[in-house]
Amino acid sequence: MSQQNNFIACSCCFTDQGLRLDAQMLGESSASACPNCHKKQGAKLTKEALLRLAHQYFVWGSFHRTEYGGAPTIEFNNRRSGGEVAFPPSLSNDASLIEKVCGIGFFHYGPRLWMIGEVEPLKQLQDQSTRDTIIHRIINEYPEKSLDPGNLFYRVRKAPAVPDSHGEYDSPPIGVTGNGRFDAEDFRVLYASPDLEVCVHECRFSAEDELYVATLNTTKPLRLLNLTSIPKEDVTEFESLDISINMLFLARQHSYEIARQIATRARDEGFDGLIYPSYFSQLRTGVIPLRTTYGLSNRRIPEYQEIEEALSVPNYAFFGQPIDEGKINVRCINKMVISRVEYGFHFGPVGI
Ligand SMILES: [Zn+2]
Repeated sequence: MSQQNNFIACSCCFTDQGLRLDAQMLGESSASACPNCHKKQGAKLTKEALLRLAHQYFVWGSFHRTEYGGAPTIEFNNRRSGGEVAFPPSLSNDASLIEKVCGIGFFHYGPRLWMIGEVEPLKQLQDQSTRDTIIHRIINEYPEKSLDPGNLFYRVRKAPAVPDSHGEYDSPPIGVTGNGRFDAEDFRVLYASPDLEVCVHECRFSAEDELYVATLNTTKPLRLLNLTSIPKEDVTEFESLDISINMLFLARQHSYEIARQIATRARDEGFDGLIYPSYFSQLRTGVIPLRTTYGLSNRRIPEYQEIEEALSVPNYAFFGQPIDEGKINVRCINKMVISRVEYGFHFGPVGI
């Protein structure tokens, strides 16, 4: 049987422009006529590709972030017969077609509450009266890691006053501190990452900025608390410290107050810094946040933990003035020319 007989739809089958474009990206070119709309020019989709399209557009595309965590508002499975969700008129026929040819039904997803931040240690971190207890657990239950001097990492700066001066790449001085995830008015932090794209993204440059990058390495073993690791714990998602920490670092500025207290406590306990998941991890790795399998977090499923750890792009936060203190060496300084910016994107529904 030839490959083309497996196609069940094509990008031309759809009315919604976002769905058409996503279908063009996931489909294959083929000169055969589409078995559904009979056009030849569309990108052809197998059932497998159409299910991928349904997940990308309707599930990921309807992902709604909450203060901590988030969840899709639409899901589908093959136990539903379809017609449950009132899609806007422009999307209604497209959704019905996918339901019919794939034998699935879309439905409004009521997320498990842990996905939208109902996680006990996370709630205790938000409560001033219980925060210290959880921070104590974080310091004790996460592993320590040191970086080998051969491990290079980077700091990118916009228009430093003296680009070839090593001091320009140390932590920002008191007076301009207090805007980042961990630093405070009286607490200096040097942010760096082994992932250059994350560094560039985090420095929020615009086209006219002059960028410089310092290549850095540690000069001696530093004590870093590794918050990108998944600690061993035998609990549900609702009680998980790991999920709490993961959500904390995927949250925006409202979470900084908690992160700063974790950092100062780690410093008081003798740590030189933290390794933590980048806020941009999900953009860098291109996967849906808070991945689940049958309602369970993939982070709680042993077979997936290594993958989940690998999907967390690390950032480093070093306390104090580590370059001035001789803990970190400036190995090289380069001018950085942004030659091209590319975005990966896909689409989702509106008004449901
Ligand atoms: Zn078609």
